[in-house]
Parts: sequence; structure tokens; C-alpha cells
Amino acid sequence: MRRLLVLAALVLAWPALAAPSPVASVTVERSGDVWTADYRFHQLAPVWVFADSILPREGKISFRATNWTVETPGVRLERRGWYDVLVADSGAVPDRVTIRFTPFTDDIEASYDAALAFTDGSVALYGGKFEVFPAESSTAVEKLPIDLNEVAEANARTNVVMRDSAGPVLLGSRRVVEAVLDEPGTYVLFGTLDPVESEALATVVDPELPQWLASLVTSAIPAVLDRYAERMGPPPGRKPLLLASWAGPTAGVTSMGGSVLDSMVVMTFEGEGLRAPNERVASRALWFAAHEGAHFWLGRAVSYERPQDAWITEGGADLLAYRAVADANPAFDARAALQEALDACVAASLEGGIASANERGDHKAYYNCGAIFGLVAEKASGGDFSAFVRDLIQSNRGDGKVSRSEWLAALDSRAPGKGLVAAISRLLDTPAADWRPWAKLLESGNVPHRVTPGGSIELR
Ligand SMILES: [Zn+2]
Repeated sequence: MRRLLVLAALVLAWPALAAPSPVASVTVERSGDVWTADYRFHQLAPVWVFADSILPREGKISFRATNWTVETPGVRLERRGWYDVLVADSGAVPDRVTIRFTPFTDDIEASYDAALAFTDGSVALYGGKFEVFPAESSTAVEKLPIDLNEVAEANARTNVVMRDSAGPVLLGSRRVVEAVLDEPGTYVLFGTLDPVESEALATVVDPELPQWLASLVTSAIPAVLDRYAERMGPPPGRKPLLLASWAGPTAGVTSMGGSVLDSMVVMTFEGEGLRAPNERVASRALWFAAHEGAHFWLGRAVSYERPQDAWITEGGADLLAYRAVADANPAFDARAALQEALDACVAASLEGGIASANERGDHKAYYNCGAIFGLVAEKASGGDFSAFVRDLIQSNRGDGKVSRSEWLAALDSRAPGKGLVAAISRLLDTPAADWRPWAKLLESGNVPHRVTPGGSIELR
């Protein structure tokens, strides 16, 4: 297996920004084989910066440099610092700029791929690549950091509209003549592929995807999300869409990539190694979809308040996924997976309180220890963790946030007088001297386990 890549981009936080008025609008259109992006800038600026300018994995050359051509005279596309920019030969960039492009379908490892190609000619385009913000000069752009989160002027909105002269495009699971993206961080599908619908998920699958993978993405994965919906209510907002693309049976390659966006999961498969059923890829794909799919509820219907509370959503999504995958695949050993989580969690908690794990660069602690806290909540909820999550969603619909104290209060109301809140709070805030506080927590929470003579905890 040359490479097996599972990329989960931007899963720790779901952006929830108030929408400012747009600084630019762009109409992206396919007309036959010709793709154009027609920009209207709503203010004057000498430079427009493409906020998502992350380089492709191979080659490390901007995909815009290779695939985009500015048709408007007097305007150039350049690379400045970490960013692609549009600059005028002199003065301000004209208020209307037309770009002709070829969809770039190679892997952009650290960001969403610009486009996904399907073997029937359908193409999914990522709206986020068209987002721009104005800058004072090219020199100012060179000083911008690679992470724009702290850069106020980058928090600008671009109105992105996509359409196809050949017919309607697919936005989410709906066909529309014109896709108006209120949130550009999504893919729009150009072409005639129709989604396969289940209760909780719509799936667009490449017609040439090997059969065993096609059945995974149209049957096993939807079953996991349907199970979530059954137990926790329908996912919020529009029905999630799963795009499963197939880059062909490339020699020497066995590759699965995945990313998750607002209401969308994208999985890309490639390589001759995937022509025949591959148990390892199947279970990773199912796990990926089960964890990321769980975030449509725990992460999206409700999210956490502060980064230190990521154990609520990451650990919760892990526990929901362990249970769902075990349901879908009897060969999956949830106990062993949770044991691994517990061992890693105990080790992490010796280094410091779990809440501050991000300060130590240990994001896995949120997943592992959050799953163990989840086990305690599961036990207190009659063995059904999804019931605990369903109630969290219902009681926090107002602000859509579950704070640490709300999570702990929900646990306390199910299992009062057992000291669970105090025990978890201590583990969140202070390092554990050894495994004992964890054993004590499991003990108080009636989570079946035993302590081995060698002094470690074994889940049962
Ligand atoms: Zn996650």
C-alpha cells in the first residue's frame, strides 16, 4: 500500500460567523467545455487576495497559476507570500474581472480540493476557492500570516453563484438552476449524476467506483447516519450529501481521502489497490464517515463553547461512532477500541488536565478522554449514549452550544450523588498522578472494568 490518506480538515471547529455584506460577487459558469469566473468587486482595491491559496500536494505550485487565466486586460494573477492575488498593472483592479479556468482536480492536502472529477464528466467545484478580500498592496499581502483567523480584513464575504448552461446543478441534495452559496465552503456538482437517497443522507457516487466501495457508500454508510437520525432526530439544516469520487485504478496506488464540510462529506478513492475489496480501507472509510457524520449532530446541531471543551464533541463523536460501527460491522471490536482510547487518555492525563490538552498540542486527548467521559454518561443514560446526546441537543437548541457545565449538569441529573461531576472536573483541570482517578471515575459511574494486578484498567 503506497499511501493511505485520511484527511479530516477543519473538524475541530465549525465556523459560525455573522455574515457581513459582500465585498465581491462572482458568477462561476460552465458553458460547454468553457469555465469562467466573472467577478464584480463592490469596492476599489489595488489588490484582491484569494483567501484559500493553499498549494497542491504535488508540485507545490499554485493551482491558479497553472489552471486560471485572467481575460481582463491590465489585470494579473500573482503569488505573494502565502497567497494568490489579482493585481492591476496600475491603480485599482477594475470592478469587473473575468477569469477562464480549468477545474483543478489534484489533491490539495491541507485544504479542500478545488474540484472533484467524476468519470462520467460530472465535476464538483469548491466554492471556497473563489473567496476574495481586498488588500492595500502586494507588500501588505506578503506580510499576511498563513493562518487568516486573526486577520480582520480577511473576514470578508464573497457572494458565490454557480450555474451550468447544460442544466441545473446539485446544491446539497437539491437540483437548482443557480446555486447561490450563502456559505461558500461547499461543493456544487455540475453534471447529471443523481444522489441515492436514504433517510438521513444523500450520496452521489461515481458510476465507475468499484462495486464494493459503491455499496459501502450507498448502503453501509447511510445506514450509520440513518441510525443516528433514528436515535437523535433528523440532522439539522439540509440533508447531508456524501460525494464519493473515483480517480481511477492508478497503478501502485491505494488511496482514500476524506474531508467534511457544512452538510457535506467528501470521500475520494483512487488506485488499483481498491479494485478488489480491501478490509482495511473499508473499515477506515466506515469509521471516517461514522465519526464525521456524528458531528452533524454533536458539532453542528450543538457545538462546544470554547476549544478546551472539544472533548464534548470529539469524544462524543468517537463514542457515537464506536457504537454505530459495531452495529454496522459485527467484526468491529468496540471494547478494544475503547480500551485503546482509555490507555491513551490515562497517559495524556498524567501530563496535565484534559481541558488544556490543546496547550500541549495533544488534540487526541479530547477524542480519547471525551469518549471515556462519554462512557460514564452512556451508563447513566441506561446504556444509550445517543439518548444523552439527543437530550443535550434538545435542551441547548436555543444557543446551539453545550458548555462544559451544561454537559456536566446533564450527567449529574442522570446519576446524582455519585460525585461524577467533581471527578470529571478534576480530571479536566488538573493532571492525574496515576491511573487511579480514572478507575475511581469508572467505579463511581458503574462502567464495567477491572483493575489488573499490574495496576492498569481493563474495560469489560
Ligand atoms: Zn471530529
